[in-house]
Amino acid sequence: MLTVNAYAATSATEPLAPATIDRRDIGPHDVLVEIKYCGICHSDIHYVRGDWAAVFDVQYPVAPGHEIAGIVSDVGSEVTRHAVGDRVGVGCMVGSCGECVNCRKGEEQHCVKGCTLTYGGIDKDGRPTQGGYSTHIVVGEDFVVRIPEGIGLDVAAPLLCAGITTYSPLRHWGAGPGTKVAVVGLGGLGHMAVKLAHALGAEVTVLSQSLKKREDGLRLGADHFHATGDPATFETLAGSFDLIVNTVSARIDLDPLLWLVSVDGSLVNVGAPAEPLSLNVFSLIMGRRSFAGSMIGGIRETQEMLDFCAEHHLGADIELIPAGKINEAYDRVLASDVRYRFVIDTSTL
Ligand code: NAP
Ligand code: ZN
Repeated sequence: MLTVNAYAATSATEPLAPATIDRRDIGPHDVLVEIKYCGICHSDIHYVRGDWAAVFDVQYPVAPGHEIAGIVSDVGSEVTRHAVGDRVGVGCMVGSCGECVNCRKGEEQHCVKGCTLTYGGIDKDGRPTQGGYSTHIVVGEDFVVRIPEGIGLDVAAPLLCAGITTYSPLRHWGAGPGTKVAVVGLGGLGHMAVKLAHALGAEVTVLSQSLKKREDGLRLGADHFHATGDPATFETLAGSFDLIVNTVSARIDLDPLLWLVSVDGSLVNVGAPAEPLSLNVFSLIMGRRSFAGSMIGGIRETQEMLDFCAEHHLGADIELIPAGKINEAYDRVLASDVRYRFVIDTSTL
């Protein structure tokens, strides 16, 4: 067993603090990753603050973090996919049954038995999994992906959650040339959605609370930028989008957004607020619209997304922070003051 430095939450209300955690012994199919960078996802905040207590049994202490980029520093005797020195990433999952219909399709996130989350799950040794706000992690080789040369490890880290969570619905709902896509919320997920939708060839609109981030949105690849705080936005854009990806972390009204969707179009929620969302079914019935959700993406698709990002020279826009600034970063994420992903330099742990 390896004892490593980490940053962990001890309750829903205390700030995160330095800690040590134990990593299991490297099994024959395991990879030891020396973590270089870990992104801060809003999900880390929802989880440690107990926002999702109705869905997840939160166990403390917990080191969050599921946007992990690093270097392979040891491999088990049977490992074939990775070698010492490889640049690799680990996202939101570290295991699944591998046998069910969804795992066999490469949709491990929808494993019938439930995938093993990178933190807050149960590890192979029966103890709680611990995430990437730490210096090392031991992961089965099938849940480790390659980070192509050409993407810096720091800007690649957020791709492991924010990247795949937006790439997967954009692909599934057919974003591409000739389609109009709107992204609601320009935060960690939102800024990657804009970059990816633009690279896929779609016409991209950002719907943000105000026009404060307009210049950034256009620089990231958006063609249009509108404020949801301005009622005129909902009149001007009525019925215009084939696909809206809602990345907002808070409860917002779905009906005004649904009326922006074209006939047969879809509003897809990736944002995961604590509170239930409600809608008026007439917003769906009139216009034969769909409302759907999407959760991260499978391992094969995560690799595809990383290769796509390398081909299109895409990474996240990040603010690199030392571990001592994690709590401050949480406050700034909660205030929608992130441009556009905080990434922890794990050498400071
Ligand atoms: P984030 O960086 O905080 O971005 C969220 C953005 O939503 C903010 O920057 C802000 O954008 C907008 N927003 C926040 N509060 C709002 C409010 N009250 N009203 C309207 N807009 C508001 O968060 P993130 O890391 O991108 O994550 C976003 C959500 O996705 C979280 O709930 C997270 O848990 C969830 N998530 C889901 C998955 C999945 O698999 N489905 C994966 C990862 C994360 P503007 O300033 O532009 O308005
Ligand atoms: Zn995440």
